[in-house]
Amino acid sequence: MRRYVIVGNGVAGTSAAEQILAHDSQAKITMFSEEPDPFYYRPRLPELIAGAAELESFTLHGPAWYRDHGIDLHLGEKVTQVDRAARRARTAKGLAAEYDALLLATGAHSFIPPVDGADKKNVFALRSAQDARAIRAAAKEAKSAVLVGGGLLGLEAGHGLIRLGLGVQVVEFFDRLLPRQMDVAGAAKLQGILERMGFSFYLGAKAKQVLGSGQAAGLSLEDGRQLQGGLVLFSAGIRGNIQLAQDMGLKINNGVVVDDRMRTSLAGVWAAGDHIEHQGRLYGIWPAAKEQGEAAGIDMAGGEASYRGTIMSNSLKVAGVDLTSAGDVDADDLLQAAVYQDDEAYRKIVMAEGTIKGCLFLGLTKGVKECLQAMESGVQVGHLASEMKKKDFDFSRLLA
Ligand SMILES: Cc1cc2nc3c(=O)[nH]c(=O)nc-3n(C[C@H](O)[C@H](O)[C@H](O)COP(=O)(O)OP(=O)(O)OC[C@H]3O[C@@H](n4cnc5c(N)ncnc54)[C@H](O)[C@@H]3O)c2cc1C
Repeated sequence: MRRYVIVGNGVAGTSAAEQILAHDSQAKITMFSEEPDPFYYRPRLPELIAGAAELESFTLHGPAWYRDHGIDLHLGEKVTQVDRAARRARTAKGLAAEYDALLLATGAHSFIPPVDGADKKNVFALRSAQDARAIRAAAKEAKSAVLVGGGLLGLEAGHGLIRLGLGVQVVEFFDRLLPRQMDVAGAAKLQGILERMGFSFYLGAKAKQVLGSGQAAGLSLEDGRQLQGGLVLFSAGIRGNIQLAQDMGLKINNGVVVDDRMRTSLAGVWAAGDHIEHQGRLYGIWPAAKEQGEAAGIDMAGGEASYRGTIMSNSLKVAGVDLTSAGDVDADDLLQAAVYQDDEAYRKIVMAEGTIKGCLFLGLTKGVKECLQAMESGVQVGHLASEMKKKDFDFSRLLA
């Protein structure tokens, strides 16, 4: 009987467990998670802030699922040490499990930039259900909030606060929203839509200090402006949880380095999810962590798997705003693009050498799926470029 230890109960860890079970009927799986809550769909956390959903409604597998599948799940157990020679993982509370195959699926944590006063009460970042509950509790006492970071995740969390009736002031270092997912024209259109919802924006601005004595009362900016707010929410990116990998001496570049089978530099140890680096890329998105977890699980159990990378695709989950951005949106307008725009919508299909390299759909949803498929398969569509500029272009023609 082969013994598997999985550190992390997120999508990478659980997808791996599912594949191990499918490929090894004798598997003995032990899983540890630092969090007390069982596997849930992290992207819906802003709804927990808004009180629009309970955690149970987006819990993907409760403890019973693990029990029924013979997985020994330990919640609230942080693995703090792995003995490479003995092949044994140990938790802070003293639990130990020996393995033949170990998966590090430890994910990531929020990055808090070095801003003075960031350790004050009512300063938050959103990564876990525990964070969401704490933000919701603080929001009940506040009239407005300051959000540092105008990325997708920040805007979704900010929208959770707006739904609670708070005014949300967004401080963004770049001079436009979603700098990684949007070009200038798309970002300007999105900004207008969000302002009408209750967001206000401070672009090209840098956070200096969290105001307030002991408890956050707002934020000062480098340019001298002061924003008032009963809570401050940082959404300034993530950092991989690489401590264990580091302690074990695994090869690390910007993330834990893995090959196409999700193997690390140490025999018997795999890694998958937000903290890994595959072919020089870090992802930080759900579908990538899922595919990596699946590949890891198959390989750990002796099957054939190969991870080839995931196309970066993001959607903004703010009610009333349809936005999908994928691949290279050519923010500097250097490539060929088919653009359609009107007062409500903006659509850009970016092409190079006749294939789709990226796309941006704001206020339009028709054709997203087909466009992503065409992008993934690398099909030649150059001959349709001028027709794609029309609002009602039939995107199924990309796949014909
Ligand atoms: C608010 C929010 C919105 C998001 N929206 C989207 C979206 O719209 N689309 C999208 O694609 N992605 C989105 N993401 C990102 C997505 O959730 C992540 O890419 C995904 O959850 C990564 O999965 P993972 O399994 O690698 O890591 P995680 O989900 O972070 O899970 C890691 C697990 O490891 C545990 N762990 C860590 N260290 C230890 C240790 N030492 N011992 C024991 N356990 C440990 C943690 O407790 C956790 O259970 C969002 C994320 C957030 C926070």
